[in-house]
Amino acid sequence: MGIKSQYNIAFKGLGQGKHEFEYEIDRKFFEAFDSDIVDDGNVTVKVILEKQSSLMVLWFYVNGTIRIQCGRCLELYDQPIKNQGRIFVKVGDEEFEEGDDVIWIDENDYQINVAQLIYEFICLAIPIRQVHPDNPDGSSSCNPEMLAKLKEYETNDSAEPEKKPTDSRWDDLKKLLDNE
Ligand SMILES: [Zn+2]
Repeated sequence: MGIKSQYNIAFKGLGQGKHEFEYEIDRKFFEAFDSDIVDDGNVTVKVILEKQSSLMVLWFYVNGTIRIQCGRCLELYDQPIKNQGRIFVKVGDEEFEEGDDVIWIDENDYQINVAQLIYEFICLAIPIRQVHPDNPDGSSSCNPEMLAKLKEYETNDSAEPEKKPTDSRWDDLKKLLDNE
């Protein structure tokens, strides 16, 4: 299980009420998930476990930065993220569909692993628009060299359709006609 076992919360021995846990997430965490979106980061995660008589509630507070690829210049940058969420933990078989904010545990379970949940809350915090944040003056903080290179590439790319005005089907037809 490796690094993920650090995220086990042994709840059996805990009294009723709220219990707080804090984790510092770094590169090793993302490596354990073999993530192709995030491979580095520096995120503080606070987990509050509220134990009630018949169920538990887990609150997640995610705050920090993750290193992801910029969709504009393709370089890596540090994206600030902040997210919070809540999960209900219930004992029993998953007989009823109660939405995706409920997880079911066996009555013999004495601990719960929150690594996967933390990973999901981090991923959910990633904005749809993944680009370098703008400078205070509104200009882009993307790597200008990369942008220039990409632009060059784009121009070459868009020129290509003009070079081959017909598709291969016409070539085949031409061949056919030439033979006749
Ligand atoms: Zn960029």
